[in-house]
Amino acid sequence: MENSLQLYNTLSGKKEPFEPIKPPFVGLYVCGPTVYSNAHLGNGRTFLSFDLINRYLRHLGYRVRYVRNITDVGHITTDVDEGVDRIGEQARLEQLEPMEIVQKYTLDFHEIMANLNLLPPDIEPTATGHMIEQIEMIKTILEKGFAYESDGNIYFDVQAYKEKYNYGELSGRNVEELFSNTRTLDGQSEKRFFADFALWKKASPEHIMRWPSPWGLGFPGWHLECSSMSTKYLGEQFDIHGGGMDLKFPHHESEVAQNTACSGHGPAKYWVHTNMLTFEGSKMSKSLGNSILPNELFTGDHPLLKRGFHPMVVRFFMLQAHYRSTLDFSNDALEAAEKGYQRLMAGVKILGALPVSDSSDVDVAGLKAKCYAAMNDDFNSPVLIGNLFDAVKMINSTAEGRLKITAVDKASLQELVRAFVDEVLGLKGIEDTSDGGMIEGLMDLILDVRARARANKDWGTSDAIRDQLVDLKIVVKDGKEGATWEVKA
Ligand code: AMP
Ligand code: ZN
Repeated sequence: MENSLQLYNTLSGKKEPFEPIKPPFVGLYVCGPTVYSNAHLGNGRTFLSFDLINRYLRHLGYRVRYVRNITDVGHITTDVDEGVDRIGEQARLEQLEPMEIVQKYTLDFHEIMANLNLLPPDIEPTATGHMIEQIEMIKTILEKGFAYESDGNIYFDVQAYKEKYNYGELSGRNVEELFSNTRTLDGQSEKRFFADFALWKKASPEHIMRWPSPWGLGFPGWHLECSSMSTKYLGEQFDIHGGGMDLKFPHHESEVAQNTACSGHGPAKYWVHTNMLTFEGSKMSKSLGNSILPNELFTGDHPLLKRGFHPMVVRFFMLQAHYRSTLDFSNDALEAAEKGYQRLMAGVKILGALPVSDSSDVDVAGLKAKCYAAMNDDFNSPVLIGNLFDAVKMINSTAEGRLKITAVDKASLQELVRAFVDEVLGLKGIEDTSDGGMIEGLMDLILDVRARARANKDWGTSDAIRDQLVDLKIVVKDGKEGATWEVKA
């Protein structure tokens, strides 16, 4: 039962039995964030989907090596190679060193991942830390005849590749079709063919992020880092490669081509793509101006939000959708998730205190089988959560004396809850997921009292309130529109 996992493989377009290349080991590579800005909720959803997959594989007893990279160079602002490096551009805008940008947003990313209770990857390699490996890979691709040099740049030769392999095997895109949708070469590009992509770009003199190479000073193309780092840590072929759906093309297609050019086959046996978080139907993204940062959602400090939600509620909200379905974000959906989460955790809380009987009216083994069946069906967390609500009904009915449970069944139910709520879904118990706006209400009251004191020129009271709030790490700021407050870490 536990070992009949099926997962949807983008390569075949269907669900397949999961058979690791070298069981019990599983190599899992997920494209990580480009650390040029704060990770938004959409990014969070993708990494959370892979956290569920990672957790379930571990739960099944596989020895997973989870590699998730940090893109700290090479990600260009447009899909074509003519844009600017995102990190370099942000460094210019914020007047910081590129590595300051990288550090700042990597720390922010880790904090958010920890708040959402994601297990950290086993290896988190950076693109800048793997220049030698990337240059070596370019050399191999050149030797094999699938790349060419043009004025200090190295491009992957899609036409040469197409003669032997299928460029488009992963995304199902056809190069000829793409041609009509792509900007034609305007004569300034050094590429031979419009679909060729950069493996190495020559750095202009003002470009800060650059490294020496056999082709002069430059920097690697974005697709290359994942090919070389996944090969380094997981081997030429590993089990699962994942990322958001929007990375299928050109990023993942190009990864497949680079790896195939070197070794004759693609990097991964299974490709897993997670669906997008949308806001009122459109993909949440910074460029559309509809992105919400996780911290804004936790505090409620965003014009699109009615109030804040605990990270565990956000996690539960996201797990209520299957990873291959889109998930639409709204205040109402979060409020509903909060109620559901509280109901689930309330059941979990009283489980230990349930009275036991000599006989059972509950079918714990049947419920357990359903939980595994849900997760074995391509990690179907919404169905699993539905089953866990059946467990809650069982618990509540037993607590109310309408059902009976034996000590043995109770112990299995406790184990089931530990395994699925805690270990697989990664939901931590919190005393109270929502204060129902109580803190906001209390702060309004306190600031109101303070405003009255100030109006009466009672500075002693006003300052005492402010200072005592500081002791509680709450900082009050007086402005034209009145006082505002925030919690300092
Ligand atoms: P980036 O930092 O832009 O490279 O993105 C990091 C990851 O987040 C990638 O796997 C993207 O596919 C994913 N991603 C970006 N936007 C969304 C979204 N709205 N919903 C889900 N995943 C997203
Ligand atoms: Zn990648």
